Amino acid sequence: MANFIVLLGPPGAGKGTQAEILSKEMNLVHVSTGDIFRENLKNETELGLLAKGYMSKGELVPDDVTNAMVKDRLDRDDCRAQGALLDGYPRTPDQAAALGEMLREISGKLLCVPYIAVPAEVLVERLSGRWTCPVCSTPYHMVSKPPKVAGKCDHDGAELYQRDDDKPETVKNRIDVYMKNTAPLIEYYRQQGLLAELDGTQDIAAVSKEMLSLVRGRAQ
Ligand code: ADP
Ligand code: ADP
Repeated sequence: MANFIVLLGPPGAGKGTQAEILSKEMNLVHVSTGDIFRENLKNETELGLLAKGYMSKGELVPDDVTNAMVKDRLDRDDCRAQGALLDGYPRTPDQAAALGEMLREISGKLLCVPYIAVPAEVLVERLSGRWTCPVCSTPYHMVSKPPKVAGKCDHDGAELYQRDDDKPETVKNRIDVYMKNTAPLIEYYRQQGLLAELDGTQDIAAVSKEMLSLVRGRAQ
């Protein structure tokens, strides 16, 4: 039975950063709904055009669209065989229910839900300093995680960019949307005995270390 992990936490908590590390260590497919939407946006697909308006305002893309996209991704052979690390999904109770159904269908096991807790004032600082690779989506930070060569991705040398939705007005709305729609999932997964809260204000390596030992413990 393949294992699945859901990474929970507000925008800027460090989900993408930790997912990059954890997916390699645990050999899980990294599935980021934000990355899939941005890829579609870049390629100007129908899905990308639909998502664009929501993303630019920091609103959530409707559940039916998002659930269908994730189902399509989890149905593929790599996820079925290796399992996956879900980054940025689910973000609403409806999505959490849909994920439960998808995992039943593919006989996947939700191993645990690490919740990266970070207070709102830290999030704003993190997102305003975030630089992202347009090719592999790796997030960097001007202060806490600078690339080896200024402005270039460590992995592929691509020119880093600042995401449009990381500007302060949109960040504020994304945090509000998170509080309203996504924060209730903390309790939902706690009640299922799957939640593990981590202090996301620690440095990147300390968060990874805690997360890895947690996940390895559950995987046994
Ligand atoms: P999310 O995917 O949850 O939105 P990211 O992983 O993109 O968050 O991280 C947001 C920003 O914060 C990035 O610029 C990243 O380099 C930085 N960051 C991530 N984790 C930490 C940490 N533990 N301490 C300091 N900065 C961090
Ligand atoms: P962050 O890493 O900062 O949390 P993401 O890259 O995960 O941001 O998401 C960027 C945007 O993509 C969101 O603001 C939203 O518009 C859309 N999005 C991503 N995941 C979902 C989801 N599960 N449901 C609805 N919209 C989503």
